[in-house]
Amino acid sequence: MKSYSFCPICATTLERAMIDGRDRMFCPSCSWVHYINPLPVAVAYTINSNNELLVIRRAHEPALNEWALPGGFLEAGEEPHEACLRELMEETSLKGKIDRMIGIYQREVELYGSLLVVAYRVIVDDDAITINHELFEAGFYPHHLIPEVRIPLHRQIITDAALHDSVPRGS
Ligand SMILES: [Zn+2]
Repeated sequence: MKSYSFCPICATTLERAMIDGRDRMFCPSCSWVHYINPLPVAVAYTINSNNELLVIRRAHEPALNEWALPGGFLEAGEEPHEACLRELMEETSLKGKIDRMIGIYQREVELYGSLLVVAYRVIVDDDAITINHELFEAGFYPHHLIPEVRIPLHRQIITDAALHDSVPRGS
């Protein structure tokens, strides 16, 4: 991830210093500190009424052309579950309902730096898909026919969701 060379407030050249236990860039003129925080992301593990999983093939970087779960960045002021359903709707036109949270994850991605990812299990009744420009294709697959998902985080979410699903209800 690229970092600042100049203060975004006063345009002074930034300097490096240990601040709050980490090596950070700061402005010697106005004391602005470049704190680097993770970007929040919501991911949708989406199931239709046949218990098939929705996977999409990405039409943009990062992970261009890779099979993945739908998802994207939270907007300011947005609840994570709202972002999850909005991204699902934008990418596939599907209207989902949150079933439960699967987990919260931290990942480093070259393009964006640190990500904080919240994954939800989402259920759809109507599974007719219309994809947007962010996808090459999308579809619901029974678990033994899911295209190979190679993004490590998305593999982890699929594994974590399945672990929970294998626990008998009411036991
Ligand atoms: Zn400054």
